[in-house]
Order: sequence, then C-alpha cells, then structure tokens
Amino acid sequence: MPAQILDGLKIRDQVFAELKGEIARLGAQGVRPGLAAVLVGENPASQLYVKSKIAACEELGMVSWLHTPPADVSTDYMLRLVSDLNGDNNVDGILVQLPLPAQIDSKKVLEAVDPTKDVDGFHPINLGKLVSNRPGLVACTPAGCMEMLRRYKIPIEGANAVVLGRSDIVGKPMALLLMHANGTVTICHSKTRDLAEVVRRAEIVVAAMGKAGYVQADWIRPGAAVIDVGTNKVTDAGEAEKLLKNFPQRLEKFRTKGSVLIGDVHPDAVFTAGALSPVPGGVGPMTITMLMSNTVKAARLRRGKSSVVAVQ
Ligand code: NAP
Repeated sequence: MPAQILDGLKIRDQVFAELKGEIARLGAQGVRPGLAAVLVGENPASQLYVKSKIAACEELGMVSWLHTPPADVSTDYMLRLVSDLNGDNNVDGILVQLPLPAQIDSKKVLEAVDPTKDVDGFHPINLGKLVSNRPGLVACTPAGCMEMLRRYKIPIEGANAVVLGRSDIVGKPMALLLMHANGTVTICHSKTRDLAEVVRRAEIVVAAMGKAGYVQADWIRPGAAVIDVGTNKVTDAGEAEKLLKNFPQRLEKFRTKGSVLIGDVHPDAVFTAGALSPVPGGVGPMTITMLMSNTVKAARLRRGKSSVVAVQ
C-alpha cells in the first residue's frame, strides 16, 4: 500500500484558518501584524519566494512592506535599513531574503535584526533559546516539519529519528526540535559512513541535503515517516526518466515543461514509507505557513495585550 501523503497544503489551510482567528483578536486590540521583507537585487528564485510570502500576508489580512535595494548595496546600507525596521513599531517581523550578494556580510545583517522580530528564527539569541528549549522564534522550515508530524499524529517520543543534513537553517534546528520532542536523534552529513544503514534504522527520516532523489526507496524502513525537505529542480531528461519511471504522469509533465521539482528522497519511497511528504506540496507550503505563524506570534508577544492581570 502506498504511503499516507503528508499534505502541506491541507495543513496550511488549517493553520491559516486558526491564524485568521488570532489576527482578528489582535485587530480588536488595535494591532495588525506586519511583515517587512527585504529583497536585495533581482534573483528570480528569491523574487518568487518573497512574492508568495507577501501574497500569504495579504490572504491573512496582515500588513506587509517590501524593500528592494539594488544588488550593489553595502553592509552598512543593510544595517541602517534593518535598524529602521527594528525601530518601527508597526513592523512585527523582519525577513531578509537569502542569499544576499557576496559583498554583504550576511551574518552581521542577520545578527542586527531585533530578536523579537526575527521571524526567520536565524538570530543567535533565538538559536540559543532553541538549544535550551526555551520559547522563542524557531526557523520556519524545521518548525513546519514538526507541525506536519504533529498534525498527522506521527509518534515522535522514543522514535529513532534520522536527520540528513546539518545546516543552520534546517538540519540543526530540526534535530533539536525532534530531540526536545523526545525522539532519539541521529544527525547525518556528507562525511557520515554507511548512510543507507543509518537510514534503515529510522522510524522518522527528515531529508535536507539538496540532492535530487538521493535517498533510495530500499533505505526506508517499511512504514517509516519520511519528511522530504529537498527541493531540487531536475532538467536532465535521463535523470528525470530514472527518477520518475514509476510515475508516467509526472514524466509526461516533465517532457512538456522541461523541468521537474524532485525532493532528496527517491519518489519510489512512496511504496515503502508509511507516511511521506511530497515534493512539491509538502514542506514547501509549510515554510511560508510557519513564517506567517511566527509573525502573528511576534505581534502577539510584542504588542498584544496580555490576558494576565498584573498583581500590584
Ligand atoms: P545546505 O546548507 O546545502 O546543507 C546540506 C546538508 O546536507 C549539509 O549538512 C551536507 O553535509 C549534507 N549533505 C550533502 N550531501 C550529503 C550526502 N551525500 N550525505 C549526507 N549528507 C549530505 O542545504 P539546506 O539549506 O539545509 O537545504 C537542504 C535542502 O532543503 C535543499 O534542497 C533546499 O533547497 C531545501 N530547502 C527547502 C525548503 C522548503 O521550504 N521546502 C527550505 C529550506 C531548504 P556537510 O555539512 O557535511 O556539507
């Protein structure tokens, strides 16, 4: 039996419906959550990502601002812009779209963002809070993977979980979140020996490597839950034929379009996994969903009226 599909679009709709309620409650207090996006230069992929983030704000009735400095701006310019956004009370979330051009010191810019407005969860203060399991803003992609596991009631406590990839924005925070949820976590990277054997022990696999179809179907323990974070554009016809030989409709689409989006897990894993997040339509929509959720949370924590009355 093919795996249960972990549908990121369906969860996005559920979370958006919940967020609309919270946005209305904040609205009644005179607070309209706002996200400021900074997009430097004209990278088409980044333009597309930012456009969908702004569209999500609009759908939810949140305010958004888009700043588009030219590709040749300096680190100082970016630091001044971030400082202005930090000082603007209407801005609850600041999103600096990565990658930034090479002349900009990305770390310096990200560290300049007010941690209470750091809706991407990249600031060292928020990373530190995550390490010590204290409330803070958590990076959107791993937070989205956790939301997916929770909403589909995939048991994490005591489960063997394997995270493929150790990047600061996906692999590391993912491993920490799974550990805090009482999973037994193994982190793999490019120097890991015998990856297939490590993956075979996992009841939960999170793949975030950036390698199309790398994780083979027979590495997946039958019934395991597989979260595929990878988003790889495949344009080579031979590679697409190999990856999609059991999916004639997708292959047909590839032939018409000339490209197809493939995760880090081989599509055939749908025949061995118990549950699987598809690419596209799995983790992708969850990332934007969690960005919206983080922005609403940041607005609530910074500007919302507490329901707790202080005792004098
Ligand atoms: P990254 O910074 O390039 O990190 C890739 C990680 O994979 C590294 O830790 C690397 O190990 C590891 N790796 C590479 N080859 C490996 C191998 N053969 N065996 C084991 N580990 C290997 O990538 P990222 O930013 O985390 O992103 C990973 C993927 O997720 C990409 O496809 C990206 O497009 C996708 N992504 C999707 C979303 C979404 O919203 N859907 C969001 C973010 C990222 P080393 O550390 O040893 O180099």
